Amino acid sequence: MDKEKQYEKLRDVILEWNGKINVTAIRDPQEFYDKNIQDSLSVTGLPEYEAAKEVLDLGTGGGFPGLPLAIASPEKRFLLADAVGKKLKVVQDAARQLGLVNVETVHGRAEDLARTRLYRERYDLVVSRAVANMSTLSEYCLPFVKVGGFFIAYKTRDAAEEIEAAAGAIAKVGGRIARTENAQGGHVLVVIEKIAKTPSAYPRKAGTPGKDPLK
Ligand code: SAH
Repeated sequence: MDKEKQYEKLRDVILEWNGKINVTAIRDPQEFYDKNIQDSLSVTGLPEYEAAKEVLDLGTGGGFPGLPLAIASPEKRFLLADAVGKKLKVVQDAARQLGLVNVETVHGRAEDLARTRLYRERYDLVVSRAVANMSTLSEYCLPFVKVGGFFIAYKTRDAAEEIEAAAGAIAKVGGRIARTENAQGGHVLVVIEKIAKTPSAYPRKAGTPGKDPLK
């Protein structure tokens, strides 16, 4: 199956699941294609994406951006993580129906997963879309990144202030904002480089990064 056909099949599989459990608010097939599939693919072409071999999608929900990226890049390996197990059932079913052998899933909260040796500082790249504010998100995501690797956050163009305000939090967990890239549909990709190991105090216990974001 060529990639275009796989993206269409992914759209159909997710929209079918949407009739049973709520995976996405978007029900129109064309809108779904643009806002979920095309938007997910907006990191492709960035050097930090192209160089990565092991990619983690944190808070993947119904598989975004992880599943479209796994179709686009069969040579990379993807781990799709989420705190809600039933969404991962949808992801697993879609990966199976699409024959994607480069996708694995893990059920858990970022704060807990990032404290295990299996996942901490193991990824060349972490991506995340629509999960939390930039400060909270940095505490969730940067602990998973190898020093020298990257975290790319999918944000909207109106998030400039939120991004600036998170600079201190990003530094605390070992990162530095390298640049932001404008993407289609009013989106911004925030490219963060991991420049130092994350201190063992982070991430704080489950719930704290959301309730009391680092400053
Ligand atoms: N990235 C997807 C889903 C966004 S909804 C998309 O763009 O369509 C946010 C998802 O993040 C939810 O599925 C929620 O369960 C997950 N999530 C929120 N906080 C989390 C945490 N601390 N650890 C793991 N997953 C989390």
